[in-house]
Amino acid sequence: MKIAALIVAAGRGTRAKTADAVPKQYLALAGRAVLTHTADRFLAHPAITETVVVIHADDEALYRQAMADTTSPRLLSPAIGGATRQLSVLAGLRHLAPHAPDLVLIHDAARPFVDRPTLDRVIAALETRDGAIAAAPLADTLKRAGTDGSIAETLPRDNLWRAQTPQGFRFPAILVAHERAALAGRTNFTDDAAVAEWADLAVALVEGNPENIKLTTREDLQMAERALAASVPSAAAFEPRIGQGFDVHQFTTGDHVWLCGVQIPHTHKLQGHSDADAPLHALTDAILGAIGDGDIGQHFPPSDPRWKGARSALFVEDAVRRVRDRGGRLVNVDITILAEAPRIGPHREAMCREIGHMTGLAPTRVGIKATTMETLGFVGRREGLAALAVATVLLPITDI
Ligand code: MG
Repeated sequence: MKIAALIVAAGRGTRAKTADAVPKQYLALAGRAVLTHTADRFLAHPAITETVVVIHADDEALYRQAMADTTSPRLLSPAIGGATRQLSVLAGLRHLAPHAPDLVLIHDAARPFVDRPTLDRVIAALETRDGAIAAAPLADTLKRAGTDGSIAETLPRDNLWRAQTPQGFRFPAILVAHERAALAGRTNFTDDAAVAEWADLAVALVEGNPENIKLTTREDLQMAERALAASVPSAAAFEPRIGQGFDVHQFTTGDHVWLCGVQIPHTHKLQGHSDADAPLHALTDAILGAIGDGDIGQHFPPSDPRWKGARSALFVEDAVRRVRDRGGRLVNVDITILAEAPRIGPHREAMCREIGHMTGLAPTRVGIKATTMETLGFVGRREGLAALAVATVLLPITDI
């Protein structure tokens, strides 16, 4: 299942009335652009495989600045938006089309407070529906104003919801709906659920988070600043943790090995229950070790037939998810492969890329080294191959 996120950041944001005319999604909130906060929520979600931001053609420099520290390989190049919000979303959907996601979550850049449970609920609802949007039941009583500004009517609020984002859809269905709406000259729908309704797609309402507000005015931004200052732990509230891992696999008859997620032709293969990718097993143990959460054999017992022939990337991804579930962050990993052969150098770049996909780490945060054992010991006799790994994790300090 491929799930993409599309963040709409192409608006001009004039209602925030900022003196320097910077669109509100690029204004600083607790020291980082609003868009950066928003994008982080999606890039940190383990099930979201691609994220694209739709920007205004004039904002490329602002975008580059906002995302300068974002190292996730899941962030695609930005798409350039159109004349209306709806056309901007269409541009983003077309940008995603070559990646063929199954689902897409469309989200406003100006909603930086979207939380993980809301994303999970929208994704879960899409198992049975074409569309599902985050929304909040209306709490305030609705009044219609008369021409003189006094109340003309009190409206019933039963079954009324305020639409938020993300708005999630099956990708092919919403792409077709948007293409059709644009062809029909309907280009001013204010949200994607309205486009979906127009195209007769069934869209579910999913309970959102009341804090998932859209920052529209100066006052919203000030309120958000206070909320973030209270909720974001300072750097001092994190502590580094280091974990190590070690693994060995024996050579047996075969014609290729898997090392760091890359298939390499070889005179033998490595014996094991999974794909026997020893460096990834060592890496999994290093990450689990850093957070004190057991080891690979405990979470993925070799006796379990589910892991027979499994890609070891799954084990690494599970360990990274455990770090994120604790509010932590993987900072860097360093791997050493002990082998007389095959040669690792020609594959190092591909290995870095694979590990980047599993962990969200940029290549500069992934070390991959190899050494022979000078023909000594079991490695030297080419009976097997060993791997060492170290991982650094930042964890919130919650205990002593
Ligand atoms: Mg192993």
